Amino acid sequence: MLGGDKIKLGISSCLLGERVRYDGGHQLDRSLTGTLERLVDLVPVCPEMEAGLGVPREPMHLVGGPRRPRLVTIETGIDHTAEVNRWARSRIEQLQGEELSGFIFKSKSPSCSLVAGGIFARAFTGAFPLVPVEEDDRLRDPSLRKDFIERVFVFRRWREMMLGNQERQTS
Ligand code: SF4
Repeated sequence: MLGGDKIKLGISSCLLGERVRYDGGHQLDRSLTGTLERLVDLVPVCPEMEAGLGVPREPMHLVGGPRRPRLVTIETGIDHTAEVNRWARSRIEQLQGEELSGFIFKSKSPSCSLVAGGIFARAFTGAFPLVPVEEDDRLRDPSLRKDFIERVFVFRRWREMMLGNQERQTS
């Protein structure tokens, strides 16, 4: 699809106010999403809810080294890595069709954090290495926010150009 369509960004669902956190809460921050919602379409994704872990659920953390992190409940030690990875593979296939121009991940989450190597953030960036990504925490810094928005627009223009080239070659 070329031009005209609103830019689409993926976002961790709890940042949009969905009550999907382990304790039934959310992480809505209007200073982050208020302006964005007017400019772009936001596509919410919650790995832990969508993988079927439910609310409320026992909080989890990452164990093991950065090469093979495991998503494990803190108190009871249940390992949810396999089910979240299974869900991530099929969700990423769906997201291929969304043509996302960026993704905003929730910081400090064992599933969503980019910096901490969250399970879904790793799967997403592995599948979409060119799509601009950021964490909510970092986007509170005006210069990092501006940089992210610029990367989103540049990526969107690049993808439109590539699609335009493909269409010309096949017509
Ligand atoms: S941080 Fe990610 S997994 Fe945790 S509630 Fe938010 S969207 Fe769901």
